[in-house]
Amino acid sequence: MTGVQLRNLGIRYGQVEVLKGIDLDIPASEFIVLLGPSGCGKSTLLNAIAGLQDVAEGQILIGGHDMTSVEPKNRGIAMVFQSYALYPRMTVRGNLSFGLKVAKVAKPEIEKRVAHAAKMLQIEPLLDRKPSELSGGQRQRVAIGRAVVRDAGVFLFDEPLSNLDAQLRSDLRVEIKRLHQRLKSTMIYVTHDQIEAMTLADRIVVMKDRVIQQQGTPDEIYNRPANTFVARFVGSPAMNFLNGVIRGNEAVVDGEVVRIASAVSSPLADGRKVIIGIRPEDMAVQTDATPQGLAVEVDVVEPMGPEKLVWCKRGDIGLSTKAASSSSVKSGDKIRLGLTEDRLHIFDVENGTRL
Ligand code: ADP
Ligand code: MG
Repeated sequence: MTGVQLRNLGIRYGQVEVLKGIDLDIPASEFIVLLGPSGCGKSTLLNAIAGLQDVAEGQILIGGHDMTSVEPKNRGIAMVFQSYALYPRMTVRGNLSFGLKVAKVAKPEIEKRVAHAAKMLQIEPLLDRKPSELSGGQRQRVAIGRAVVRDAGVFLFDEPLSNLDAQLRSDLRVEIKRLHQRLKSTMIYVTHDQIEAMTLADRIVVMKDRVIQQQGTPDEIYNRPANTFVARFVGSPAMNFLNGVIRGNEAVVDGEVVRIASAVSSPLADGRKVIIGIRPEDMAVQTDATPQGLAVEVDVVEPMGPEKLVWCKRGDIGLSTKAASSSSVKSGDKIRLGLTEDRLHIFDVENGTRL
């Protein structure tokens, strides 16, 4: 069982400091997802763990051993990239066995591992085809298979599903999760897709501008986001935000009063400006005769099948909520949205941190 530790890791491209002081402790068998927008440093970090990227300072420990300056092939890792990077002239079987041949693994052992990986990934019927004769999803399965045969303690994935269409992406996502359940290897998975992060991860590390914003289980990240960036980045549609001013146990939002007592860990000073976050599913269209809540006008209704997304306007602020598929709300309706008090998130107006 192989854990990975990063200690005070720093990476530079020439004079430019790309990552600095990164500390991360990944226990053996964990599925960890590095989540963040393009350019935040995810691939740089993953490449450093793989040994494809020089490290300016700090240490990388794999299985307790200092691997900071060890050759990539000797780190006991296997990597899957966004571009499948298959050898075009080799068959699937050739692609799966090539790395093992180079490593001088005995032929019967190679055959055994290739058969095992092909079965696990359901690519047995494809073993004699060339990559050009495969669909994108099949190619990515082969690329994953090439990692599986290496029998590595640590798997690194860099946006492996980004080139696939939506249906294949969700199919292969389930495959990857199943693979982790079977192999129980440590998996470090990079993506900008919050749904992949939420569905796959034991633990998510959210990054922005090369800085770790929050680490936590999907549940912690979703239900207790550390700041407005994390709050907005995870969840679809995104969390709604309102400006408020504290008054006792309440916040005044543009003339209307919202109770917030159960949403903050300690009382806030009167007059303090805050940002109030609320997820679409934590607001409800009020149907009583004398409805309470925020007055809004319905802008657009999107039927999603099991529910409807209702996009509303309150002045120039947009607010999204969810309604039952049977709901009759329509564009132009003037309605009120009830907020679930203990599902509110209160953030500092200056730096966006959770209060
Ligand atoms: P991500 O994978 O999260 O999209 P990257 O790790 O690829 O982000 O890039 C992080 C930052 O480092 C970006 O600002 C990018 O422009 C910069 N960068 C990446 N590769 C190089 C390079 N070879 N030389 C200089 N800057 C680079
Ligand atoms: Mg990248």
